[in-house]
Amino acid sequence: MNHQRKTRDEKDRLSVNPLVGEANPAAGMEAAPPRNRLDAGPIAASAAYQLIHDELMLDGNARLNLATFVTTSMEPFAERIMTESQDKNMIDKDEYPMTAELEQRCVAILADLWHAPDPSHAVGCSTTGSSEACMLAGMALKRRWARRPENAERYASGVRPNLVMGINVQVCWEKFCNYWEVEPRYVPMEGDRFHLDPEAAAELCDENTIGVVAIMGSTFDGSYEPVGELCAALDRLQERAGHDVPVHVDGASGGMVAPFLDPDLEWDFRQPRVASINTSGHKYGLVYPGVGWAIWRDREALPDELVFHVNYLGGDMPTFALNFSRPGAEVVAQYYYFLRLGRDGYRAVQQASRDVATHLAREISALDSFRMLTWGDELPVFAFTVKDEVTAFNVYDVSRRLRERGWQVPAYSFPANREDLSVLRVVCRNGFSMDLADLLLQDLKRLLPELHAQPGPLHPAMTSTGFHH
Ligand SMILES: *Cc1c(COP(=O)(O)O)cnc(C)c1O
Repeated sequence: MNHQRKTRDEKDRLSVNPLVGEANPAAGMEAAPPRNRLDAGPIAASAAYQLIHDELMLDGNARLNLATFVTTSMEPFAERIMTESQDKNMIDKDEYPMTAELEQRCVAILADLWHAPDPSHAVGCSTTGSSEACMLAGMALKRRWARRPENAERYASGVRPNLVMGINVQVCWEKFCNYWEVEPRYVPMEGDRFHLDPEAAAELCDENTIGVVAIMGSTFDGSYEPVGELCAALDRLQERAGHDVPVHVDGASGGMVAPFLDPDLEWDFRQPRVASINTSGHKYGLVYPGVGWAIWRDREALPDELVFHVNYLGGDMPTFALNFSRPGAEVVAQYYYFLRLGRDGYRAVQQASRDVATHLAREISALDSFRMLTWGDELPVFAFTVKDEVTAFNVYDVSRRLRERGWQVPAYSFPANREDLSVLRVVCRNGFSMDLADLLLQDLKRLLPELHAQPGPLHPAMTSTGFHH
């Protein structure tokens, strides 16, 4: 072996502590295992565990991650029921009828929570997350539009359907439009309005609009979009122009917040125009990543031709999903939290997150260096920026410096027409306590004099930290 090949080969191998590796006969290792290809033979389980465990130490601390909406802490009994269900495949309805039953109960619970006119007739399914749920809901909108007698022929002759939404939609809606060949029509941000404007949305609709997406709430600033006003604007559009445009509510986060903290806000199936709603069970639903939900108002809202029928205990089980196999443990855990918390429990958990968010927003505002865009009083999420008169640092500097202490607070710029605006965003979730929030605040206070002493921003604008979503 020539020297160069040898060093490259060595670089491609994991570096192994002698206690774990070749010097330890129990590890069963003849040489350090290659990184990017299968080794010829096995090594001891304990050695494999140690090697991977060590590398994973470099991942951030999930609890200090204020960028994500996704659950980073669950209670021990929830983890236990998940561990017990880890071998269950959601699609094997025949083998795991009780897991299938728990999924159906969750669908009924959500349909009831979101005021479906007749929860026993609402249809819905679990998914791997809101993204899959949004793909399914978007497909249903598109198919419903294409099946209308007045559209069928035009669609067949090549007319392109469109979907109307705020520019602040989560990336899954861009994906939906791309993958399913639907024209996206975005309502831009204007001035201090950072989400969809109902009238502007109605203006973008025409006879080829399959629906309008409203977000509860926006990932950019945590604000709820005005679903009721949107529905009213679409009612007027129908009177004016005859287009009957359904609404899908993307409640990835808010679908599990608003019902408990803002019960009088009519954003859900109480609005007759709302055809379907999704949520992420793994966001404010409180389950670890891997579960979302899509619910349709009634059978009419979900064209039957999209539903596949699998054999279930000799009977018929309708399924609507992109995946075939998928883990059942998250669905079981969702039911665990529904059962365990009830309405009051969920309300207490979400209220605690909102209390932390509003407290933190007020305290940050009092520091006098920042301008708040939102206050954490809708989603427990708020966005803020550096005051105009501050010229020594920008939001990217703040994000980088907080990272030194382990806090992940994303900084990013807004989309059209507010590309000039860059913000920091804090997502408060279950497990981010008032005490942790005060520690974050202390760190921010400690950093501020140093930031103000900078000659100017150290990080160029428009360099998103890359970890917001
Ligand atoms: C997170 C989010 C999504 C995507 O959800 P996943 O569960 O991560 O797939 C879609 N829409 C909104 C508004 C979100 O916040």
